[in-house]
Amino acid sequence: ILSLTALSAAAVLTLAACGDDSGGAEGSKAGKIGVILPDTKSSVRYESFDRPYLEQAFKAAGVQYDIQNAEGSTQRFQTIADQMITGGVTVLVVDGIDSNSAAAVQRKAQQQGVKTIDYDRLTLGGVGDYYVSFDNTKVGEELGKGLQKCLGDKNANIAYLNGAPTDNNATLFAQGAHSVLDKVTTYKKVAEQAVPDWDNQKAATIFEQMWTQQGGKIDGVLAANDGVGNSAISILKKNGEAGKVPVTGQDATLQGLQNILDGTQCMTVYKPVKQEADAAAKLALAVLKGQKAETTGTVNDPQGKRDVPSVLLDPVPVSKENIKRVVDDGFVKKDELCAGA
Ligand code: BGC
Repeated sequence: ILSLTALSAAAVLTLAACGDDSGGAEGSKAGKIGVILPDTKSSVRYESFDRPYLEQAFKAAGVQYDIQNAEGSTQRFQTIADQMITGGVTVLVVDGIDSNSAAAVQRKAQQQGVKTIDYDRLTLGGVGDYYVSFDNTKVGEELGKGLQKCLGDKNANIAYLNGAPTDNNATLFAQGAHSVLDKVTTYKKVAEQAVPDWDNQKAATIFEQMWTQQGGKIDGVLAANDGVGNSAISILKKNGEAGKVPVTGQDATLQGLQNILDGTQCMTVYKPVKQEADAAAKLALAVLKGQKAETTGTVNDPQGKRDVPSVLLDPVPVSKENIKRVVDDGFVKKDELCAGA
């Protein structure tokens, strides 16, 4: 018995020494993945979903990882990146606050031989090896289609509350929404503004100004995410118009879903973040092992003038009718959702 145990122990040692990286936990430990998330305020998604799903995926792969949140500070973003690189991270996954600072981080990483992957937001002018996200133009189209469904074909004045001007996704959301709504001849755009940092308080101020300027003649609000949408709803409430003026959203947050149930929000766009986290983990592991990763296509970076190999996932529009989909996915618990009703 003794010698048998010794033998198998030796076999395990040999395997480990030979760097068996056939997917086992031992082999993939050669290397470490770092992730930097942008903030904690523009959406609840980062700490509630992205972080736990990424952790789950890295743990399942048996790989070392370090996930940090820059809390809206580009300086902090830079510091975290420096610390991660010094700390031995070999692949860096970044969800940038803005393209300039994220690109600087990516170039610095590259100089140190660290590969980078863009997560959710494309870093314009960056040097990332891969990009994983949802099809963001499609997200915008779903916002447009959702608002159209709620408004019907009547004459309608539409106000646009776009995301942060520094977020390439926000540009694509607005483009997608316009591609749908601009074709409807009975609709008129009466106001459009980007919300700096996706800041919900600023969104409320901006929307209140729009409302006043238009003398309350706003019939539909294309809001780029649930947080910004909820800000518009709070102003509509103040004016006794909540529930009468459809408002869109994104992220399928608890607040957004409850607003849909009580009729103050028209729809949201659910992005199964688990798929995004899993895809990012898969790409990072491939990069770690020096293997070519599977992608679904490329995304053009007009600033960097290059096509980035990408994995783009499908967003799901959610309104009252199919809200169960989000519960079935385990993204929100039924009793949590219904507690507000
Ligand atoms: C993400 C959205 C999020 C927004 C604010 C975007 O880049 O795609 O899911 O709501 O940023 O954080």
